[in-house]
Amino acid sequence: MGSQLVTTEAAAEKLGISPSQFSRIYRARGYAPDHVESWHYGRRSGDRHLWAARTLAALARTREVREARERRIRRDGAAAERRVAAEAHARREERSRARLPGKIAALFASPRAALASACDAMWALNRSTDAKSSYGLKTRLIRHLYDAEVFTDRVEKLSRTLPPRECWECDGDGCDRCYDTGVYLPGREVCSYLFTFTVDGRKFVWRQPDFALTFEPEVEAERPDDGRGPSGETLALPSRRVWSLRALVEYAISEPIAPPEPVDACDEEDDDHGASTDVGPSGDGRTLAGPNEIVAFPV
Ligand SMILES: [Zn+2]
Repeated sequence: MGSQLVTTEAAAEKLGISPSQFSRIYRARGYAPDHVESWHYGRRSGDRHLWAARTLAALARTREVREARERRIRRDGAAAERRVAAEAHARREERSRARLPGKIAALFASPRAALASACDAMWALNRSTDAKSSYGLKTRLIRHLYDAEVFTDRVEKLSRTLPPRECWECDGDGCDRCYDTGVYLPGREVCSYLFTFTVDGRKFVWRQPDFALTFEPEVEAERPDDGRGPSGETLALPSRRVWSLRALVEYAISEPIAPPEPVDACDEEDDDHGASTDVGPSGDGRTLAGPNEIVAFPV
């Protein structure tokens, strides 16, 4: 048994330390491998250090190995603790996310009553640095409001012609790449829709490119797009906030609102026909925040 030799990696593992710790310690202590074996692989070659059990036993008794092993245990322990804490945190997040719909439902009398707050939530999501990921939800909210008819003040179609893009290879002179046209991308028209809604006396204006919409709205006016984006700065929302704002919008659009029965075609809006008059939870003022203010609710 005593003649059995092990590699440096196996020796380090036996001592409970890393191979680099092992190499540092045996050199510092003046030990040398019990056997050195050379290896060849193709044109490459090298030495393999092998260790006898007797040498490892002697090294195991040194203060350096003992300390290195303790350091390693502490470090691994701390890493494991961090991992456990991170997993617990993720589980808590998941649980609170799962409770979100119930919490939101408890705040409002009905999805309809949450609509103005949901519009505020979408206002914030739309300005968040991660607005693109809420595009689909924005389209669904727009459609929900549009289909109910009573909320829509106006829909405008904005169009803009993008100029042709010059070929970058020849700067417009013509080359093989552009078939001598000098043009990389021909000019094209891009369209978007501008929706103006009034919900519970609050005005919301949203713009959505035509390709993002799942329906074709009836348009009151068409005009050229001045190319200006939404005003105001972008918001860096923490992911928890994004989740709760999205859950609020999901709740508000979870029940379709029946469009009003046709009375006449004029655009009077004094008759809030068919729409529920419930506003917010027990009038604590939380849901009817100021214009475009982000609604606060516990998460
Ligand atoms: Zn070209």
